[in-house]
Amino acid sequence: MENIKIKDKEFKPLIDSARIQTRITELAIELNSDLKGKNPLFLAILNGAFIFAADLMKGISIDCEISFVKLASYKGTKSSGSVLTLIGLDEDVNDRNIIIIEDIVDTGNTMTELLPKFNVFSPRSIKIATMFFKPAALVNPIKPDYVGFEIGNEFIVGYGLDYEGLGRNLNDVFVAI
Ligand code: 5GP
Ligand code: MG
Repeated sequence: MENIKIKDKEFKPLIDSARIQTRITELAIELNSDLKGKNPLFLAILNGAFIFAADLMKGISIDCEISFVKLASYKGTKSSGSVLTLIGLDEDVNDRNIIIIEDIVDTGNTMTELLPKFNVFSPRSIKIATMFFKPAALVNPIKPDYVGFEIGNEFIVGYGLDYEGLGRNLNDVFVAI
């Protein structure tokens, strides 16, 4: 595989699509076994997780539901930054086994803001499945339950992940150089 350029940035190959698909098959087998009989509700976080969610679901053979949600960030009144709002959650999550499908857990800030939003409901369980995880970048006590690949503290594109809006459609994953 060759290096690619997106806008001003150059990227080199990190994980090819065959490895990604093999790993997803393994994750699906694990989920099928852990969630059998629990009718889980998968909640995929748009935009980044759309490809991972689709590929993962092809391997899920147990009864389950999937829905897509989005985290909108609004600039708060405080200078400290933005506030995340969960949009598109139409399902009743009470008493459900929820699996959040995320593209990547980096600092863990997003998951740390998202998880308490379920406190107003009473889900039976909440687990996180993420395609990529950067343990060295984590600054919150978040532990993803299902991880596709652990990667270093570097910036990646492809397989749903973008650089300035581009690159989500790449089948392989590239890392910035
Ligand atoms: P966190 O809140 O855990 O720091 O980051 C989560 C979000 O940051 C991800 O859902 C993703 O949108 C973005 N992000 C974190 N690391 C990367 C990366 O290496 N590449 C891309 N394209 N996005 C990333
Ligand atoms: Mg994201």
